[in-house]
Amino acid sequence: MGRYRDPVVIVGAGPTGLTLALSLGLAAVPVLLFEAEPALAHDLRAGSYHPPTLEMLEPLGVTERMHVTGIKVPQWQIRDRVEGVVAEFDLGLLKDETPYPYRLHLEQHRLTPILLDRIRESAPSVEVRFGCAVRRVAEDEDGATVWFTDAAGTLQECRASWLFAADGARSVVRRDLGIAFEGFTWPERFLVASTTYDLGRHGITGAGYIADPEHWAAVFKVPDVGPPGLWRIAYAIPPEADEAVELEDANIQAKLFTIFEHVPLGIERFELKYASVYRVHQRVAARFVGRRTMLGGDAAHINNPLGGMGLNGSIHDAVNIAEKLVRIWHDGADPAPLLDLYDRQRRPINIKAVQAMSIRNKRLLEERDPKVRAERLQELRDIAADPARAKAYLMNTSMINSVREAAAIQ
Ligand SMILES: Cc1cc2nc3c(=O)[nH]c(=O)nc-3n(C[C@H](O)[C@H](O)[C@H](O)COP(=O)(O)OP(=O)(O)OC[C@H]3O[C@@H](n4cnc5c(N)ncnc54)[C@H](O)[C@@H]3O)c2cc1C
Repeated sequence: MGRYRDPVVIVGAGPTGLTLALSLGLAAVPVLLFEAEPALAHDLRAGSYHPPTLEMLEPLGVTERMHVTGIKVPQWQIRDRVEGVVAEFDLGLLKDETPYPYRLHLEQHRLTPILLDRIRESAPSVEVRFGCAVRRVAEDEDGATVWFTDAAGTLQECRASWLFAADGARSVVRRDLGIAFEGFTWPERFLVASTTYDLGRHGITGAGYIADPEHWAAVFKVPDVGPPGLWRIAYAIPPEADEAVELEDANIQAKLFTIFEHVPLGIERFELKYASVYRVHQRVAARFVGRRTMLGGDAAHINNPLGGMGLNGSIHDAVNIAEKLVRIWHDGADPAPLLDLYDRQRRPINIKAVQAMSIRNKRLLEERDPKVRAERLQELRDIAADPARAKAYLMNTSMINSVREAAAIQ
């Protein structure tokens, strides 16, 4: 039995909230998880997992299940739209650093059911309530009060010993705690289109970044309903563009044929399965903790998807805070220094690594100055050609260094 009467309340059953709930539940900490939607979200979002994330999810019994349908991506490329491959990086160089020297691709909406299944099988101290939207929160010395509407729409309230905000970019918890979400929003939006056409037959790796001053793009293979999977292509649409027009089949086709203009596709049109547009931000919460409250995942930080770090960093938050909450709950550890440590381990790393790298990745792909562009691409060629430098580069892009640096902060 823990020292606290009320459960840990988690707001949001996305990957962050579910990972935390499972981690706490496996340690028999009572958890109440509120999710506004009637079921798990099924929209297309992230889906690339870096080695440290797979390592963290392994003891939760999740990584093995992800491998059942996930696609291993051992190499990734930076390409020039016209010239083709600029640099190819082999994650096999990390084989002495991690048991998972590859990226695993699996749609986020296929990860969340695995997490929920694991909770239902093995974490009886966790109660997940769907259709319950948190409307307001307030913290005090002993915990937090949470006001939520239940599935029937009735306003109710409950107490939390500890409150964790995993309620995404528009976090109600962050708002009510008065925490600023500092940063900026890119003027252009991203369009993501998915095709059944196998770009792999042209030597394009399952993760690839195509540089071009006008028509840059990111390519990303996901399992979908099974082999051969789907290829997702993300590109920018101008700030003034009409979203509905951009999503018209003819316009997506034209853009994809331009992006792959120098690839001998041998088709008249791409078979498209999904397409959506979304706005991209670079923002970090001014603090990740209050007295009895903590933020994690998109509620705490958001970034562009180039490099696949948003979802990974979110899971790293959940695993980091879980270990601290277990010590607080079961061992009576002094909470204030542990919450402070969470903030110090996760917040600066996000700014220094995730925000910086994702902004740099975008600027690399879209660089317009021919001289700067040539220099940057040459630098990547040089790095890829030197195994020691390539390994050092992959230690950063695979988030291994950021996780180790965070762990070293005491
Ligand atoms: C369109 C889109 C595309 C993306 N593509 C990529 C990508 O390619 N690569 C990448 O790395 N990242 C990508 N991301 C980001 C990635 O999906 C997020 O980092 C990840 O979803 C964060 O997980 P989370 O659990 O913190 O938040 P979310 O997944 O947003 O989950 C939050 C949950 O909280 C619930 N909720 C919200 N408010 C309340 C409330 N008041 N009460 C109760 N429940 C509430 C929501 O319904 C939701 O289920 C994308 C994001 C979007 C939106």
